[in-house]
Amino acid sequence: MTDRPLVALVYQRPGMPWMFEGARRAGVDVVLIHRPDPRPDEALPAQLPPAVVGALPLDIFGDAAGSLATLAELHRERPFAALVTALDVAVPFTAKAARMLGLPGLSEDASVAVRDKREMRRRIAAAGLNNPAYVALPSPGGWKDAAGLEFPVVVKPASGFTSLGVTRVDSLDDLEDTVASVWDVCRRHLGYGKESAAFEGLVVEEYLDGDEYCVESLSYRGEVRIHTIGYKGRPEGPYFEETVYRAPAPLSPAAERSIREQVTGAHRALGVTDGPTHAELRMRGDKAYLLEMGARVGASGGSHHIVESVTGVDFAGETVRIAMGEEPVSWNRPVESPGVGAMYFVPVGGSGRITNIAGLAEAADDPRVDRVIQLLHPGDEVLPYPEYSGYPGFVLSRHDDHRDAEEFHHELDTSVSVHYE
Ligand code: ADP
Repeated sequence: MTDRPLVALVYQRPGMPWMFEGARRAGVDVVLIHRPDPRPDEALPAQLPPAVVGALPLDIFGDAAGSLATLAELHRERPFAALVTALDVAVPFTAKAARMLGLPGLSEDASVAVRDKREMRRRIAAAGLNNPAYVALPSPGGWKDAAGLEFPVVVKPASGFTSLGVTRVDSLDDLEDTVASVWDVCRRHLGYGKESAAFEGLVVEEYLDGDEYCVESLSYRGEVRIHTIGYKGRPEGPYFEETVYRAPAPLSPAAERSIREQVTGAHRALGVTDGPTHAELRMRGDKAYLLEMGARVGASGGSHHIVESVTGVDFAGETVRIAMGEEPVSWNRPVESPGVGAMYFVPVGGSGRITNIAGLAEAADDPRVDRVIQLLHPGDEVLPYPEYSGYPGFVLSRHDDHRDAEEFHHELDTSVSVHYE
């Protein structure tokens, strides 16, 4: 037993180290709350990261009440100073549990607004921010309600994650089938049709054809500070596997202004006043449209690498500090600009049983590479899109300029590949 504050990290992927390291820098002990039945890319290693003093399986989706009761019991034994999650789907549970224990954190209302894309779209529209035309479908049978939208459109779960099921549809002829198949994916992966399903429904919205950007921000007591705006490519679908992330993004002043306005406005519209956010936007010309804003550190903590590379700010550590109600240590310091941060998503490149992932060891030897993370291994099974089996891995690097990062990612496109049986 130490006198360090105790923080629960909820459903943090053990293979993604940044949140654990941030917790350590923030001087706290960590209890890792993990899934009772982790997927291969979430498996617990024999040795947990140094900040972790305990690990506990909780079924926060299947048995939310039981999980809350267990946390309350633990809190009586050794009080938590904060509950933190970097997993989008766990944000509402984490907010609810923090509320129950009297801890600081996102309001439950905001935790729903950032998770339910129907509610997000409604609030973004009400705030007068940019919104594509959209229709919310409570069930697949209602697909005709979306027939009046301008095609192409995108069909997505109301509360999905990592592009699960998100599908582009080019013509009305294909809408009914696509809605049915996305609903099927939601039944298998998000529990639609079961009592435990949260936010059951779909959103159909007009396709935005411009570049995609990610924005990492920190808020403290209602003040929002945008830390980085990064380039995410221009994925065209029909399925939207993530490929690259490079920050800071080269941007025209008008595009940057629009991104900043939309992200700052979204914090107000969705009620996010404290903690990190990870926002995704797409452009139509110089006009930015929010796709979603998660109230968490993005990429299972990987956004820390981006922010830290670009600004020097300890993004994961600040997240833990804010969650405990503390002022972030960077709040009154000038932000540096050391360089460019980059993240490469190893492309799934097929489906089936993995036999080999080539090129990662070589990538790790490149002096610009900070870390290579491998989450899937030979023997693991990858399902074909639009199912989701997790990303095989990531290459995280630092560069002097955006062009060098871009060239490096092009090199990885040819040197890294996943092979299947
Ligand atoms: P998730 O929460 O599952 O990641 P998103 O709404 O962020 O779902 O969509 C995932 C990806 O699908 C986005 O990053 C983007 O590339 C693409 N996408 C989603 N909505 C649109 C849209 N309206 N126009 C163009 N692309 C979109």
